Amino acid sequence: MRVILLGAPGSGKGSVGERLREATGFPWISTGDLLREAVRDRTPLGLRAESQLGKGGLVDDETVLGLLRERLSRPDCRDGYILDGYPRNLEQAATLEKLDGDRPEIVFDIDAREDVVVRRLSSRRICPSCEAIYNTISKRPKKEGVCDVCGAALVQRTDDRAEIIPERMRTYRAKTEPLVSHYAARGTLHRIDANGTIEETVRPIQAVLDGLLTKGSRGGR
Ligand code: ADP
Repeated sequence: MRVILLGAPGSGKGSVGERLREATGFPWISTGDLLREAVRDRTPLGLRAESQLGKGGLVDDETVLGLLRERLSRPDCRDGYILDGYPRNLEQAATLEKLDGDRPEIVFDIDAREDVVVRRLSSRRICPSCEAIYNTISKRPKKEGVCDVCGAALVQRTDDRAEIIPERMRTYRAKTEPLVSHYAARGTLHRIDANGTIEETVRPIQAVLDGLLTKGSRGGR
């Protein structure tokens, strides 16, 4: 099975992905994380992505596909996986179909209002050392500005800065939002209200997945 999480930046795809990984045992694959990891490790694909990241636009399809293909080829993806951040345009949806088209697929549109996502993005803080994620409103560290896990000073992700957020939202509306109708037309889309807490968002997703997985797709492809 393949679970695809669609949704604007800040809608909570990452938090949902993490919860679903725990609940299903499927790996949660964030292409944003794969890209940032490749940049950090200075791999050839990372070097190609570096100048394109952090500006609010998309990284070129070929670079992202290179990273995704490698990730999907690992054995932990055999029974199923959760995609967060891929596909991000119609071309990538077609590519995914070619790459791994036989798998049953389910798509959740993690849908939050624009004022909600902008607030979440501007209040997100990350630990540059252990990558823990905090939020100055909803998930504050015990000591302000300091990571609970490793004690490093928290920072803001470059593309979470107020001047980059409008460009990310424009990119989302122009490139990614058309995927909502694409998957709705295929009958695989479920719209999820993501304006509330993470628990409220995950509950209906979990209910849909439980129904599907108990029908016997777990363990199959
Ligand atoms: P968000 O969804 O909150 O914008 P991500 O961590 O998913 O954050 O992605 C960060 C950046 O990585 C994106 O703004 C984009 O530049 C790049 N990126 C991630 N996934 C893709 C993709 N599938 N195609 C192209 N670029 C991508």
